[in-house]
Amino acid sequence: SPTPQPKEGSQEKDVKPVEEKKVAGPIQIVQANEHNFELNATALEEVLLQKHVKDLNVVVVSVAGAFRKGKSFLLDFMLRYMHNRDKDSWIGGNDEPLTGFTWRGGCERETTGIQVWSEVFVVEKPDGDKVAVLLVDTQGAFDSQSTIKDSATVFALSTMTSSVQVYNLSSNIQEDDLQHLQLFTEYGRLAMEEVSEKPFQSLMFLIRDWCFPYEFCYGMKGGNEFLDKRLQVKHNQHEELQNVRNHIQHCFSNINCFLLPHPGLKVATNPKFDGRLRDIDEDFKKELAQLVPLLLAPSQLVEKEIGGNKVTCKDLLEYFKAYIKIYQG
Ligand code: GDP
Ligand code: MG
Repeated sequence: SPTPQPKEGSQEKDVKPVEEKKVAGPIQIVQANEHNFELNATALEEVLLQKHVKDLNVVVVSVAGAFRKGKSFLLDFMLRYMHNRDKDSWIGGNDEPLTGFTWRGGCERETTGIQVWSEVFVVEKPDGDKVAVLLVDTQGAFDSQSTIKDSATVFALSTMTSSVQVYNLSSNIQEDDLQHLQLFTEYGRLAMEEVSEKPFQSLMFLIRDWCFPYEFCYGMKGGNEFLDKRLQVKHNQHEELQNVRNHIQHCFSNINCFLLPHPGLKVATNPKFDGRLRDIDEDFKKELAQLVPLLLAPSQLVEKEIGGNKVTCKDLLEYFKAYIKIYQG
């Protein structure tokens, strides 16, 4: 007689899936605890040593700046782009809540540190080379001497390890912002062994809530015109102002600026806003649709280089371990 078959469904009961697929999410890799910096090496290993990426050259896109200025919000759109690259429209549906790096309103404090997205994206560049794309979110505070020092460390670490650093600013580039940038990059430059003339790769000033589109239009063209003016060194300028500008120009091989309009009151003030496109101003969406591919389109991707050499995911892990030591005092 035939062997009795188990009832439908009962078969799987005790069988565990061979490999549980982890849900992608943000991973805190660097954290400041009472001004001490710690690297979560195990977590970073899990991200960077995944078989399919560890030996690929890495492209690291990082967003840095003060709390509550829409960094994570932007990164979530970058994630959308990476997930929907093959579709006609990547930006999402009108009523689709935005998910990814946690972002929220209010003014509560977050921990100063660095997060990476657990999913590393494999992208083929136009020349056929496959690269691994890592997205990095950072949190800093800029309101007291001690928090500025911590933020300098976070900014330095993320600039040293990224190929593109997006410096997220609100409404304008103030002299303060440039001074901070000088301090942060000096922190990084001094820490690096090879002090070549341009220690860092790309810097993009991203100005949120830009209010002067009639002087400088939204986007990168207006942004770069504005930036040229802001970074201009003039002979009648105070020496300090000249120094800041020279320093910044010498630190990065490539500097750009992008002007983003205000996203609208729902985004800025409604506590129930969940990121859906319906609630975001048209102008903002239009510029966002330009900005994200400028950073992430396959033709735009720039591999991370340190000391003139391209860096793989596996190498990047070692650099993180080495660099964090410098800041552990
Ligand atoms: P983060 O701390 O810099 O990562 O900021 P979040 O991404 O968490 O965003 C903080 C708040 O700012 C949220 O309520 C967002 O809805 C809102 N927000 C996002 N982008 C913008 C923007 O471009 N301008 C303004 N005014 N608010 C924004
Ligand atoms: Mg954030």
